[in-house]
Amino acid sequence: MNGLIDIGINLTHESYDRDRRAVIDRAISAGVTHMLVTGSSVVSTVESIKLVREYPDVMRCTAGVHPHHASELDAAQIDLLAGLCTVPEVLAVGECGLDYFRDLSPREAQRTAFRAQLHLARRLRKPVFLHQRDAHDDFVDVLREFPDIRGVAHCFTAGLDEARSYLDMDLYIGITGWICDERRGSHLRDVVRHIPADRLLIETDGPYLLPRDLRPRPDGRRNEPMYLPHILTVIAAARSETVENLAAATTRNAQTLFGWPSGA
Ligand SMILES: [Zn+2]
Repeated sequence: MNGLIDIGINLTHESYDRDRRAVIDRAISAGVTHMLVTGSSVVSTVESIKLVREYPDVMRCTAGVHPHHASELDAAQIDLLAGLCTVPEVLAVGECGLDYFRDLSPREAQRTAFRAQLHLARRLRKPVFLHQRDAHDDFVDVLREFPDIRGVAHCFTAGLDEARSYLDMDLYIGITGWICDERRGSHLRDVVRHIPADRLLIETDGPYLLPRDLRPRPDGRRNEPMYLPHILTVIAAARSETVENLAAATTRNAQTLFGWPSGA
């Protein structure tokens, strides 16, 4: 596999409804040859699987329930999700985790949904796609109950201490265009220097987190997977590493963690 893999792209988001095919074509032309579509609820997971099946050479997806939707995850939904996780196009469980920043689901419900999905991942021997915001201590406590779990802390935006605690748990770290934000992301340029090359993954998290330093500035605020090479360039510069080396390493890491079928 020669191109880049966007390991976090919400391609079923409605903001792509009018031109999804063009978005995908632009990404591929920019060298983003593979995308891991994020499933963040049962409904969006079903939609993701459908989309991925239209692009079998390009896409795979995750199957999970974001902490915002945690209170929807009752026993029936868990059964549904378990079934979706066994679909061959699904390479990881998630996104799952804890989000105490927005608290859209009660915290207890978030922890319950998180544990349920970690159990699922363990049972199915799949990696997890993890989301955490303002909930680091509880997040680490829950994860420690699952010492054998493999996964990625997606959209990492915190400091070195949090990064180290994830690396100590053998997690991968996903870096987005947040690092391009000179106001709130500049600390990440130091953090990424401390992430071993075999632990780093790259993602756009589109349509969110449009890199702020794109020139010329795109119209609108929607992020697209075609901007992944820009994010890669910023990370490579911060690490004093060549773009080529970092591209190869991050693609290899994505293949290793998610078991991306070679030839796909
Ligand atoms: Zn997330």
